Amino acid sequence: MTRKPFVVANWKMNGSLKANDEWLSAAMPQMSGTRLACDVAVCAPFIYLPQLVIGFEHSATLVGAQNCAQYAQGAYTGEVSAAMLADIGCDLVILGHSERRTLFGETDETVAGKVKLAFDNGVMPIVCVGETLEEREAGRTIEVVSRQLRAVLDKVGILPLVSGALAYEPLWAIGTGKSASAKDAQAVHEALRAVLAEVDQEAAQRTRILYGGSVKAKNASELFAQPDIDGALVGGASLKAEDFLAICHCADSL
Ligand code: PEP
Repeated sequence: MTRKPFVVANWKMNGSLKANDEWLSAAMPQMSGTRLACDVAVCAPFIYLPQLVIGFEHSATLVGAQNCAQYAQGAYTGEVSAAMLADIGCDLVILGHSERRTLFGETDETVAGKVKLAFDNGVMPIVCVGETLEEREAGRTIEVVSRQLRAVLDKVGILPLVSGALAYEPLWAIGTGKSASAKDAQAVHEALRAVLAEVDQEAAQRTRILYGGSVKAKNASELFAQPDIDGALVGGASLKAEDFLAICHCADSL
């Protein structure tokens, strides 16, 4: 089974109308149409999504949000629903990012509920799982990421993950410059695929599992060469178009 590599930019809370336009101008010569062989997405703050939907109109690049509300609609001041994301042409949404779990108190149950709302509204979820340094050092990595994944599988099944992606992001590797080794990351990806296979063998083979945590052009090729690493979720190195494109080219040359 060959899975098409998928490289996703997570701009986090960065950008401005001007900076985003500059990013688009720098990237479009290489991103217009289907110039890149891998699937690519850019996930931006809510307020800039319309700018990206228009900016990527003539590109196969997908546009993603970084969160959505856990409720369908109503009196939830300041929230943005999955239906609203679909309404403005947003293709996907990152859910369960560790910054949402640790800084904003999202639980496995909250994340699973958001995945259901996203999928039901036609927005593809990219579901993040990952362990803390303390959990890794205690030998609990597989237990923790399997628990996080099972919470989603129990609520919504595997199809939302086949449509979007699963992302393994060890917390100690995010924004630290310290990536997991390709071998360690592969071991976790293999374990995650085995959890997916408990639900549906064939769908597990079709699900893309991305690695995230200090991915750069210089470590991307080794990560992408692993049999269960199907791409990357890229934070810091996605803020400059040329750095992000260099990672996309690593995926393209697989
Ligand atoms: C992320 O936040 O999803 C991420 C992987 O960040 P970084 O690439 O900066 O480690």
